[in-house]
Amino acid sequence: MLTDTILATSIEFLKGVGPERAVLLQKELGIRTYEDLLYHFPFRYVDKTSIHKIGELNERMPFCQMIGKIGKVSLIGKGTAKRLIAQFSDDTGTIEFIWFKGIPWMQKIIHPGLEFLVFGKPSEFKGKLNIVHPEMESVTKEVNLSGKSVLQPVYPSTEKLKTKGLDSKGIAKLQRTLLEKLGEHIHEVLPEKIVRQLKMTSRTKALHEIHFPASMDNQKASENRLKFEELLFVQLKLLRQHNIRNLQIKGHVFEKVGHYVNSFYKEHMPFELTNAQKRVIKEIRQDVRSGKQMNRLLQGDVGSGKTIVALMAMLIALDNGMEACMMAPTEILATQHYHSITKFTEELNIPVKLLTGSTKKSVRREIEAGLAAGNLPIVIGTHALLENWVSFPNLGIVIIDEQHRFGVAQRSTMWQKNKIPPHVLVMTATPIPRTLAMTLYGDLDISVIDELPPGRKDIVTRHVFETKRLEVFGFIRKEIEKGRQVYVVYPLIEESETLDYNNLMEGYVAIEREFPKPKYHVSIVHGRMPAADKEYEMQRFKKGETNILVSTTVIEVGVDVPNASIMVIESAEKFGLSQLHQLRGRVGRGANQSYCILMTGYKLSEDAKIRMETMVRTNNGFEISEVDLRLRGPGDLAGTQQSGMLDLKIANLITDQRILTAARHIALEILNDDSTLSKPENQVLLDQLNHLYAGSTDWSIIS
Ligand code: ADP
Ligand code: MG
Repeated sequence: MLTDTILATSIEFLKGVGPERAVLLQKELGIRTYEDLLYHFPFRYVDKTSIHKIGELNERMPFCQMIGKIGKVSLIGKGTAKRLIAQFSDDTGTIEFIWFKGIPWMQKIIHPGLEFLVFGKPSEFKGKLNIVHPEMESVTKEVNLSGKSVLQPVYPSTEKLKTKGLDSKGIAKLQRTLLEKLGEHIHEVLPEKIVRQLKMTSRTKALHEIHFPASMDNQKASENRLKFEELLFVQLKLLRQHNIRNLQIKGHVFEKVGHYVNSFYKEHMPFELTNAQKRVIKEIRQDVRSGKQMNRLLQGDVGSGKTIVALMAMLIALDNGMEACMMAPTEILATQHYHSITKFTEELNIPVKLLTGSTKKSVRREIEAGLAAGNLPIVIGTHALLENWVSFPNLGIVIIDEQHRFGVAQRSTMWQKNKIPPHVLVMTATPIPRTLAMTLYGDLDISVIDELPPGRKDIVTRHVFETKRLEVFGFIRKEIEKGRQVYVVYPLIEESETLDYNNLMEGYVAIEREFPKPKYHVSIVHGRMPAADKEYEMQRFKKGETNILVSTTVIEVGVDVPNASIMVIESAEKFGLSQLHQLRGRVGRGANQSYCILMTGYKLSEDAKIRMETMVRTNNGFEISEVDLRLRGPGDLAGTQQSGMLDLKIANLITDQRILTAARHIALEILNDDSTLSKPENQVLLDQLNHLYAGSTDWSIIS
């Protein structure tokens, strides 16, 4: 195809580039080919027609453009406090520009008397207006590259590129040259029908107007078209991989629902399942008897009752003569699961063992022997389950709790434990919007428990400054008088472990002083304690023998003490949103009104303020994870998984969820109609998939 060969041309050969700039473009921006340059999009457009007068600026205005002259330039402060300050005036007023970085470079450029076109966000400091790190363009060199368009693209560039003339304008010039060269040769990669159906801008027009839009409306339409295209191919890729896996990987067939499931359901079920729990159990049952291997992600907010669903799934495996195991990220959580699962399995006479890093040799031997003899149907544990000696003769299902701590690699280790891979159920309490989850965890089907067991009271959350600690203690005292229990959690950040440890110990001492023996009992749990001591303290708290549990985040996930009604989080600003939500989820598990108290200092970053406000505003895990995603981006969430997947050029998985959902929908429609993309009208899709993901998947497998 003509375009493809042109697009693959090395950037060196584009007029105006040459060998030296080519090396720099690759090094600084990763641009190697014509195509890379074409997909180096502007991050903003400057409307040359709107210039603000300095006199009319105020700190509530967004990014503004102004023209004026540099006045006095001064360098003040030392070391990290060093900054460059310049006065900038037009005939209506003066504003101050400030640079903290790139000072030597700016000093070369700005001199008193020079005229500049400036772009920046006005803010106020001590009653004076200023702009930090404004973008400066000298007015004398000003040429309107965009011809008739008044909108000029602003491209990401770097200092090194700027010294070689490749500032935003230099890059715009290259884009012009490239677009002229490509002409009408940019071909459509979507079937005509879809372009028509969705009334989309053509690809040629979109790629032109994303760089040089005739209007902001055209820009938006082009941007949306390119985002849709990008996400559609991501979805097509995911769905096809999914189909391939379903066709290729056989799973154990669990036809029966037998003794264990029935007697548990009829005789031992402690409560009525919620409709959401019932629906998910049904989804799991359908998977495990389909002949395909189940790979399912179960999303459910903290306290939504995932454990009982996991138990049911395991019992189905047992009813079909196979074993089950359950893996949790921490020793405390594994132990907790062990206790909650054995509560049920004891009544059913099912042997269960716990395996963690600190399991004794003798018990390990029992586990090994039990598994070998085929009379140990359930093992619950930590990563220790992945050790080589742990060998299940008939592993039917693996439950993995808290998805975000385990990667794909660990999941596949569990697969390899058997010739036919076990079914896999991954559970997470950090729920994210469904389509996003499908994209981030493309290899998993998704189930959602979107309903809490009845009778739960919303936890009341308060944000309190540390200076109010005595009042908080007073409140705690009252709750303890009512018979309730309290968690006090301190952050643990690895880099300053000793410091955190000291904070924790200081806090512990202060609380013991405030809540003295013998009237009160305070216990402490932290990472430096031996596992047995941790477990001992946890059990004491669980049994109600201690009133207050002071701890680090070791209790973050999964711990279940229904009588605990207050969660105090110290230095709450140091925690991420999902962590705060997890911690809060430790209370509100019983019938009592529960409280979460977020203690912080006065000085809070904007992010931290949003986190506190969000926690106070809502108890809904989905809402919280949306805010969290906006603050942090999805990269963190997905960890190492799907890393390539997230390498998106224009779409944003968080802010473009509507487009993402539409793309998913269309991709499904296309594949339902033509699963191998072998119809003539879908040839363009297949070509583009091969172009985008060359070498990553063998599409021929399923055709
Ligand atoms: P999570 O989803 O956070 O793992 P758990 O499985 O630990 O939640 O359940 C939280 C609490 O709710 C437990 O005490 C559990 O026994 C209880 N629970 C679960 N399902 C129900 C239900 N349908 N009705 C009443 N209580 C339930
Ligand atoms: Mg849980």
